[in-house]
Amino acid sequence: MSALSELNVEIAHCQRCEIAKERTKAVPGEGPEDAEIMFVGEAPGWHEDQQGRPFVGSAGKYLEQLLASIGLKREQVYITNVIKTRPPANRDPLPTEIGNCQEWLERQIEIIRPKMIVTLGRYSMAKFFPGKSISKIHGSAQKRDNIIYYAMYHPAAALHQQSLRQVIGADMLKIPAILAEAKTVPEPGPQDQQLSMFED
Ligand code: URA
Repeated sequence: MSALSELNVEIAHCQRCEIAKERTKAVPGEGPEDAEIMFVGEAPGWHEDQQGRPFVGSAGKYLEQLLASIGLKREQVYITNVIKTRPPANRDPLPTEIGNCQEWLERQIEIIRPKMIVTLGRYSMAKFFPGKSISKIHGSAQKRDNIIYYAMYHPAAALHQQSLRQVIGADMLKIPAILAEAKTVPEPGPQDQQLSMFED
């Protein structure tokens, strides 16, 4: 069994949060173990909970269209979420749930070693760009420890707010050039130096 498959089994059995009792399936994430790009969303929704797969509802269909716009299929990237269990009634994830799931995301990153991590939405952005605002940093990249971090709006937000569709579409189109020019992506400035990757 691959390291990622073993990790998925651990995630599927995780009972650290109360919400584990209510889920149909845990949603660890999916994609190749050697994916260059990792997309990190917020939390599974109803469809994801039913299938145990990330981004399979309407936001997922839109994410697939966005990927197609840069010549990628979802099978070529790794897709996961900050938390791996659906919060009841699709409420926002709680800080304790995010904390409990932190180890899983860290271990996924260690195994996959992506060149680029794309955050989708506020909760994912807060993990990797603590204290930043999505309206200010979407579409901009930063490199730390040889990984490029790139913040985007959540695809579901663009589905609800037409004005964001153009923004998220344009941000997606920048990804190939950023990956190709990885060496030119700036390291954090002095004001960011104290920020650790998983600061709460
Ligand atoms: N929204 C997310 O953030 N993740 C999913 O997996 C589906 C919808």
